[in-house]
Amino acid sequence: MLGPTLEDAMSVDVHKEPSEMNCWPKENCCVCRTPTSYWYGTGPLNVALCPTCATRATADSLPTKAQWIDAERRANKRPSFAAPW
Ligand SMILES: [Zn+2]
Repeated sequence: MLGPTLEDAMSVDVHKEPSEMNCWPKENCCVCRTPTSYWYGTGPLNVALCPTCATRATADSLPTKAQWIDAERRANKRPSFAAPW
C-alpha cells in the first residue's frame, strides 16, 4: 500500500507528431534522449518528450526548446536542426 501518489500531478500531456511529419527522423526525448515521436508544448516550449518521461515530468522541470536544442547540439555534434553555423 503506497497511499495516494503524486503521479497525476507530476505528469504532462504529450501528443504524437502529426502524420504528415512521419517522414521526419525521430527527435530525442528532452529528458532521456530516447528517440520519440511524441512532443510536449508549443512554440518556445515545444520539445520532444517520450510518454515514459511525460508520466514523471512536471512542466517546471522541462527545458525550453532553446535549452533542449542546445543540449542536443552539444550531445550530438551534428547539425540536426539546420543551424546556420
Ligand atoms: Zn524520455
